[in-house]
Amino acid sequence: MGVEQTLGNNVITTSLDKLVNWSRAKSLWPMTFGLACCAIEMMAAGAARFDLDRFGVLFRASPRQSDCIIIAGTVTQKMLPVIKTVYEQMPEPKYVIAMGACACSGGIFDTYSTVQGIDTALPVDVYVPGCPPRPEGLLYGIMKLQDKIMKERNSFGEAIGVGERISQA
Ligand code: SF4
Repeated sequence: MGVEQTLGNNVITTSLDKLVNWSRAKSLWPMTFGLACCAIEMMAAGAARFDLDRFGVLFRASPRQSDCIIIAGTVTQKMLPVIKTVYEQMPEPKYVIAMGACACSGGIFDTYSTVQGIDTALPVDVYVPGCPPRPEGLLYGIMKLQDKIMKERNSFGEAIGVGERISQA
């Protein structure tokens, strides 16, 4: 029996990049972290009707288990250090979604106490506009993030020290 007959449709060839990106994109675990009214829509997106689980999106209660943070609501100057700490506690690679007008730009709160866009403090990957955005808007934003992750290039050689071992040989 030839190799093709033996293997049939049971083998998929791909690059390591694509495989890793696919795994990351299809299992995003955001922090359970709400700041204001937008967080209610984020919760609705995670509940039965919109069902974020079907995209592999599962909310986690610890930053150590999360690779995504959805900034859902108004960011006050007082809350900013907490958000930064939570973000720093998340392992790499990690992603940020700014959900709603407040997180994107300060929204209607053009005041001394409100951060005028979370991108002044964190590297935002996807902006979801609206006040508040509907759960469908957040779903679309998450799908955009998945598209972005699928295009990432990884440096596995450096990560596992292959380049170093080769140069020493
Ligand atoms: Fe609330 Fe609108 Fe700000 Fe969202 S964008 S937190 S709904 S005021």
